[in-house]
Amino acid sequence: MRKNLLNFEYDELIEFFKKLGLEKFRADQVLDWVYKKRVFNFEDMTNLSKEHRKILNEKFYIGIPKLLDMQISKIDRTTKFLWELQDGNTIESVALFHSGRVTACISTQVGCPVKCSFCATGQSGFVRNLKSGEIVGQILGIEINRKVKVGNVVYMGMGEPLLNFDETLKSIRMLNHKKILNISKRRITISTVGIPEKIIELAEKDVGVRLALSLHAATNSKRDEIIPLNRKYSVDELIYAIRKYQEITGDRITIEYILIREFNDYPEDAERLAESLKGINVFVNLIPVNPVNPNFYRPSRWAMERFKQILERHGIESEIRVEKGTDIDAACGQLRRRNLK
Ligand code: SAH
Ligand code: SF4
Repeated sequence: MRKNLLNFEYDELIEFFKKLGLEKFRADQVLDWVYKKRVFNFEDMTNLSKEHRKILNEKFYIGIPKLLDMQISKIDRTTKFLWELQDGNTIESVALFHSGRVTACISTQVGCPVKCSFCATGQSGFVRNLKSGEIVGQILGIEINRKVKVGNVVYMGMGEPLLNFDETLKSIRMLNHKKILNISKRRITISTVGIPEKIIELAEKDVGVRLALSLHAATNSKRDEIIPLNRKYSVDELIYAIRKYQEITGDRITIEYILIREFNDYPEDAERLAESLKGINVFVNLIPVNPVNPNFYRPSRWAMERFKQILERHGIESEIRVEKGTDIDAACGQLRRRNLK
């Protein structure tokens, strides 16, 4: 069976090439073709001998995901991609454009086992974890199809990255590697619904990326209602984990807070949130809910501003996130869901 070359880290590739009788610099050449020159056919790798190209062709394929659908927002160029993987499963990515920089929002799982009630991905069930090459492949796919260089990466697409821990970490090493995608770790963000022991492991392993926690509610009773996993890991445990994370890394942490009308947008919700986050260096992203679930509505602008002001009064910096790509269902999980129907 041929192997997906995109699943190979630098050292692994050198090791595997050695077994095939190919020297280290051959691995450098192939990586240069794939990740720098964007040549995905071994036949076209002209600085390799015919014989070497034949061996590579027998042993590897280059698993760029197949583009099934691409929607480009007329408002802000936000681009949404639906990909087909080798086994026929589909996943999504989004590319966001802001002042000359491109941010890729990528998936780590087909579906998601966490099943948050407001989330399109969560509602579509869980199929499987992605391999590192399928995570990295999304970046290549975006770059090829939009003719851009991705500068920032957020693990905010489909799935929970910390429930696919090893492949997520491997994909980060690959994104960061000079001979692969060469993206600075400071430009990579993992967004998690919150798995306390994995958050602490990220810090202890000195992974070096930025962390965003999807908190969405500061009390267990409210968080239980929208995030089933909260019954396993309470708000207190999450807050403890991010405190610990900050103690070890010194990094500022982003808190994601979806605002849902008449659910978690009251002044007392803001007060409780501020209370929970006391003493932690955070930035809070306030996100009006995308009404995937018809029971959830966006708060009024006024209620969102009121929420923000209360945080401010407690010295907590926040931003009401400007929505991107509203004309193309840019919230991850929506495009796939429509295509599954
Ligand atoms: N599983 C991870 C990362 C993927 S979800 C996590 O939950 O953090 C990425 C972000 O999109 C999360 O903050 C999530 O809460 C948010 N999200 C999901 N559905 C949404 C919706 N309907 N409206 C607004 N944000 C949503
Ligand atoms: Fe999974 Fe994140 Fe969606 Fe929750 S919000 S179901 S954790 S992808």
